[in-house]
Amino acid sequence: MEAKDLMEKAVRFHGHICPGLAIGVLAAKYVLEHGYDYSPNEELVAVVENDNCSIDAIQVILGTTFGKGNLVHQDYGKINYYFYDRRTKKGIRLAINSKKFDAKKLSRDEKIQFLLNSKPEDIFNIYEIEYNPPGLAQIEESVPCEICGEPTMNSRLMTYNGSEMCIPCYKKMRS
Ligand SMILES: [Zn+2]
Ligand SMILES: [Zn+2]
Repeated sequence: MEAKDLMEKAVRFHGHICPGLAIGVLAAKYVLEHGYDYSPNEELVAVVENDNCSIDAIQVILGTTFGKGNLVHQDYGKINYYFYDRRTKKGIRLAINSKKFDAKKLSRDEKIQFLLNSKPEDIFNIYEIEYNPPGLAQIEESVPCEICGEPTMNSRLMTYNGSEMCIPCYKKMRS
């Protein structure tokens, strides 16, 4: 698919057009063109170091989504993306090359056009990486919080004064 067709698909999901989305489109396009496929289940996993607009393009184009658990956010505030394919055991890393990108003084619209007309290789530094994906998403039992009664994932329960409680209740107790 052309970048502009992918962009249309991403805009339908994301809600508006923006340079961040175009960055995500470009990353996703490169991944699709280099031996990775859209992921209906958890075949592909994305590890992303930011949570900006670009991630919506990654989710809708590659099927690596927050809900399926094959999108992992590491809050480093960096425009880096890692993809791992559980079938081929391959990994790839895309890191934005700000020298090429920020050097141009462009308006918002010009930026979007510039990105969509660029080759991913011109915007990102791209490396093959060792296959080292995060574990599969865990399905866990929920137990009621002893304070508010709401079902809470077992591994997220906190113990305080002899009661097992959810994190919001724990924070209230401690404040
Ligand atoms: Zn946006
Ligand atoms: Zn609670």
